[in-house]
Amino acid sequence: MLGDCHAHVIMDGKNYKEAVGLHKHGVKESVIYNCFSKYQKAGVTLIRDGGDSLGVSKRAKELAPLYGITYLTPIFAIHKAGHYGGIVGRSFETIEDYRQLVLEAKSQGADFIKIMVSGLIDFTKFGVLTEEGLDGALISQMVQIAHEEGLAVMAHCNGARTMEDAALAGVDSIEHGAYSDERALKAMVEHQVIWTPTVSPIGNLTGGGRFKDEVTEEITAHHLKMIKLFVQMGGCIALGSDAGAWRVPHVEGIASELSYLQGIVDESHLEKTEILLREKFSKR
Ligand SMILES: [Zn+2]
Repeated sequence: MLGDCHAHVIMDGKNYKEAVGLHKHGVKESVIYNCFSKYQKAGVTLIRDGGDSLGVSKRAKELAPLYGITYLTPIFAIHKAGHYGGIVGRSFETIEDYRQLVLEAKSQGADFIKIMVSGLIDFTKFGVLTEEGLDGALISQMVQIAHEEGLAVMAHCNGARTMEDAALAGVDSIEHGAYSDERALKAMVEHQVIWTPTVSPIGNLTGGGRFKDEVTEEITAHHLKMIKLFVQMGGCIALGSDAGAWRVPHVEGIASELSYLQGIVDESHLEKTEILLREKFSKR
């Protein structure tokens, strides 16, 4: 069975605050056991996590071999102070601070570096993000530093111009990638950036009662159209469901994501990407 190239063991698909709260006084290992057991039963052997600031992902990495799971993690994600990312990681002010965080993640066993370079989708209105992306020059510096340490870079990134900047900066994968355009996709294909479009946390909002269905449907439809175009252009799509996000349960996320990608990419495409990703995102 295909693995999940974008998941969050620390989250439960229901209530983010409650799930995170369980680890407030130290990592609650039973959460990790339950999560991994579920994946093991389903025959899943690859999980690429997004990291967290509470050490859950770090402990999960140590436990994963017991379940026959290759678990790839950045330990924690890195974001610029004052921007989105506090819920999954740690922040930096200066590029020297950033370098220290990269070294720290590496020494804690990170398989790759995760950087947050944009905001989130504002689900109340089509076409809107919660904030502007980081400057292209800064993204380039961040990628270069991680690569110098021998680590691949996963970028949380939405918005066409930030996606283009991230591709030109040499990130190894772009996660989410809402509101892309042809120019951004072209840069991604040219720079061989893997795209994990995580359709499930967008598409599964429809019917959830939290946002207007016509808005979430419009965002999903646009996203799928761009994914199709990317594949036609020769781009590599990774199957990643953002499992743990609201209405995206662990394991079930894989089937959910596959259903969105059906008719756009076949399983052999996704398998090939998974092999590439296992190579690129494992610590060298
Ligand atoms: Zn995520």
